Amino acid sequence: MEVLPRVQPKAELHLHLDCCVSYACVAALRPGTTLTEYLRDYVAPAKCASLVDFLTRPSRIVQLMQTPRALRLVTDDLFTQLVADNVAYAEIRFAPLLHTAGGMRPEHVVEVVESAVAEAVAATGVQASVILCTLRHFDADASMATARLAAARLEDGLVTGFDLAGDEAGFGLDPHIAAVRHAREHGVRITAHAGEARGADGVDDVLDHLRPERIGHGVRCIEDERTLERFIAGGVHLEVCPTSNVQTMGDLMPSYADHPVDRLRRAGVALSISTDARTVANVTLDQEYERLRHVFGWTSADLARSNMAAVEASFAAPAVRRELMRTFAAAHPGPGSG
Ligand SMILES: [Zn+2]
Repeated sequence: MEVLPRVQPKAELHLHLDCCVSYACVAALRPGTTLTEYLRDYVAPAKCASLVDFLTRPSRIVQLMQTPRALRLVTDDLFTQLVADNVAYAEIRFAPLLHTAGGMRPEHVVEVVESAVAEAVAATGVQASVILCTLRHFDADASMATARLAAARLEDGLVTGFDLAGDEAGFGLDPHIAAVRHAREHGVRITAHAGEARGADGVDDVLDHLRPERIGHGVRCIEDERTLERFIAGGVHLEVCPTSNVQTMGDLMPSYADHPVDRLRRAGVALSISTDARTVANVTLDQEYERLRHVFGWTSADLARSNMAAVEASFAAPAVRRELMRTFAAAHPGPGSG
């Protein structure tokens, strides 16, 4: 049996700020919340009715994230989780336009989160970037406003990327095409959710119209040989979040063993592993790795390759990428040779 370092260093590219809020943090933001209420209202069951059902939990968390203090508490809480999980690099995403109900301007929301992330990076040594999300149900103006925010923060801030998230099955791409183009033209890196609530046709749509460098989830590309081939040939990286997928995909993915992550890896798709939603999905990245070892027989070398693929596909600055590659190479001598 392989002897494993207990908590290997990891990189995580797909992580929603409003899906990673511990009970202690919720109790600080909403005093009097009991653990039973937290588990019922803020954590999704192992099987949700749908992605929309799953998304009711982050919606409740977002309601608590409407002040600078709340945004700082949630960011600090996430970094506490990342340190415990030995995450060396994380890309943290959120939709700034969801945090204005308390009177904050979107620019201020981004500044507060960026400064909280910068302080947490300095305090913990965990490296991080920030990705701003537009959401499927936003109109073209809201989507463009988010893209402009990302472009404006590119020079001085930690923002590196722009993402399209939300209800994939319920809303189309049209309102977001110009926003994604604007972000890309200003040097913002592009990722987009697809192939989660819709099948391979939804992945094709996003590839055709948004031309992202990475796809969040995307795992249902496996349903169509031609779509799968686009990933193998095109080098678009998949941010794969198996536990979250099993939660939201119902009968399409009855159990972890039915997840296509291992088939995608064997087919030669560039991919890495993320939690998506540490508290809503109730999973750490270490637990995700344990499931991959247990269910699919992934080795430390397989996981090291996944981490290095994450670094290669990351939106981090070149110097940070080089440092991370050294970290992962030191932790797993030799995985690059396989
Ligand atoms: Zn996501």
